[in-house]
Amino acid sequence: DQRAVTTANIPRYARVNTSLWSTDEAIKYFVSQGYSFKGFQKDAHIPNLLAFSPNAALQDDPAYNAGKIILQDKASCFPAVVLSPPSEDNGVVIDATAAPGNKTSHLSALMGNKGTLYAFERDRKRFSTLKMMIGKAGCKNVTPVNTDFLTVDPFDLKYVPVTHILLDPSCSGSGIVNRLDHLLDGEPESNRSQNERLDKLAAFQLLMIKHAMRFPNVKRIVYSTCSIHASENEHVVRDALSSDEAKAGSFSIASRNEVLPDWPRRGFAEEMNSTDAASALVRCLPGEDATNGFFVSCFVRDRNITLKRK
Ligand code: SAM
Repeated sequence: DQRAVTTANIPRYARVNTSLWSTDEAIKYFVSQGYSFKGFQKDAHIPNLLAFSPNAALQDDPAYNAGKIILQDKASCFPAVVLSPPSEDNGVVIDATAAPGNKTSHLSALMGNKGTLYAFERDRKRFSTLKMMIGKAGCKNVTPVNTDFLTVDPFDLKYVPVTHILLDPSCSGSGIVNRLDHLLDGEPESNRSQNERLDKLAAFQLLMIKHAMRFPNVKRIVYSTCSIHASENEHVVRDALSSDEAKAGSFSIASRNEVLPDWPRRGFAEEMNSTDAASALVRCLPGEDATNGFFVSCFVRDRNITLKRK
């Protein structure tokens, strides 16, 4: 029953910003604020993620205002964990579509607030939000850049050392549970205009992945959406895998054991024409998985190949 899918069924997730404090400190703090440790739990899949009851008013908590917790849906924590960025001093990572910056601050924390994380955002207003979020979260290793990722030269000396790229581009947002509520009332979008919109989004998403594959030393690219449509998910991955860029760069899909192996819901095999490839993909179904609808994939370079400029 789609009507049962509302935010009232989804826990209120709080990711502990480990750049500012530890999960043990956060747990002690919330207990001291009157939350019982039965009233919230550590998440089973994502480290440093706490799950509270859906109506917990965490947006009013001083720890949120201080950037010490990030209110982020569980599924939206998957991409940074799957990317598994380096935590060495010389690590160089790109967040290609960064605002408002939840995944940027997650990546920054996973990097131990070290190395360099370039955070690109095309939209000027959203870029201001991104800069505010980075400041609030105490990210010291992030360089925000107000630009279109598609215009960034992969052979620019600054970006040559990049090894990991997170791509969380604009999508239909069809997995966001609040919006599913809207689908229940009002006029449904006509199939034709919906398909046209999805086709445009998919073409853009594919361009973004292909561009990421041009970075000469990138070895891991995570592509995610908050869409439930195969056209923005499995189909985009399939097209990216058969692209010239994937062949030139020797990219394949990372196997299941590298992509949240314990998460049971995987990609749709019928949309990938391959059970193996589909099992390498992660899906979340709104209402079923205590998360919003979400999709995560990871491309890896097969061999240690360095691309040469054409
Ligand atoms: N990763 C973000 C987070 O977790 O907070 C959410 C990203 S949101 C789904 C997509 C963002 O990408 C939007 O802010 C949009 O303006 C930006 N964007 C879209 N196309 C872009 C491009 N070509 N280059 C840079 N940013 C882009």
